[in-house]
Amino acid sequence: AKTQGGGGYAMFDRGMHEEALRRLDLELDLRRALERNQFEAYYQPIVRLRDTRLVGFEALVRWNHPDRGLISPAEFIPLAEDSGLIVPIGRWMLDTACAQMRRWQLAFPRRPALTVSVNLSARQLTHPDLLPEIRRTLRESGLSPRHLKLEITESAAMEDGDRAIELMAALKRTRLKLMLDDFGTGYSSLSYLHRLPIDTLKVDRSFIRHVHDRAADRSFVETILNLAHKLGREVVCEGVELPAQEALLRGLGAEFAQGFLYSRPVTAAQAEMLIIDDREN
Ligand code: C2E
Ligand code: CA
Ligand code: CA
Ligand code: CA
Repeated sequence: AKTQGGGGYAMFDRGMHEEALRRLDLELDLRRALERNQFEAYYQPIVRLRDTRLVGFEALVRWNHPDRGLISPAEFIPLAEDSGLIVPIGRWMLDTACAQMRRWQLAFPRRPALTVSVNLSARQLTHPDLLPEIRRTLRESGLSPRHLKLEITESAAMEDGDRAIELMAALKRTRLKLMLDDFGTGYSSLSYLHRLPIDTLKVDRSFIRHVHDRAADRSFVETILNLAHKLGREVVCEGVELPAQEALLRGLGAEFAQGFLYSRPVTAAQAEMLIIDDREN
């Protein structure tokens, strides 16, 4: 139809237009979402593979849109990054997750080591207010920095090269923990990985999906584990859904796992039940 002249192009334009409008519309809604209290923090457990005990949670944002229902972060986080709205949204997540973890620590004094992980986008990492904001959040929540982990994607860590490394080093000086998220999806060289001041690698779930039934995937994960351990880093495997994957990863010496096998991301109230259910055994 496009080659048939004006009409075809008009259709094409209208389609583009509608998509642009939809995005603009969503962006306007996103601007108001914070003040309207439409975000909610969900929590997904991270377990120690040795005994599948709970060690902490990853905080994941959800947007409860008044007309469209629950919108996945896969849809609105890119929009939030492009528009810069990720900065206030990220600040809200950090405040919410730290305050929540502090409340759990006070409510469950026998579980003092539980940690919370918060995702940090590239835009936040390079924002000049990041460090003072994090210090303020820790002070106001009363959470000790060693119970806060920041997840930085491999691509965000590489985007700004030396600058990102400096910022990560400054974050480490506040004594919180750093995780390299989605590891394996970027192209960081081994020497670069060595220079990153991170404590933990999170292996992307695309490598876990077939770890139990494809030799190539198993070798790949095994190589990452060897490398991480040689560099003195611990490893979290994302997207563990099957007992066969869990058994294999445990056998390979991975420290931690996260995935639907243990729990989907849940509300704070449901996460609290998971803490209660995680008894000594
Ligand atoms: P991510 O950081 O890699 O988070 C893990 C994603 O994998 C989550 O998706 C989680 O629900 C999903 N997942 C966990 N276990 C499994 C499993 O066993 N199977 C499958 N199929 N999926 C699993 P979610 O919550 O939809 O978040 C998607 C992405 O959105 C996150 O990927 C992260 O990049 C971004 N995101 C979420 N919350 C935040 C936030 O507060 N700040 C920033 N900057 N990004 C966020
Ligand atoms: Ca993450
Ligand atoms: Ca991830
Ligand atoms: Ca991911």
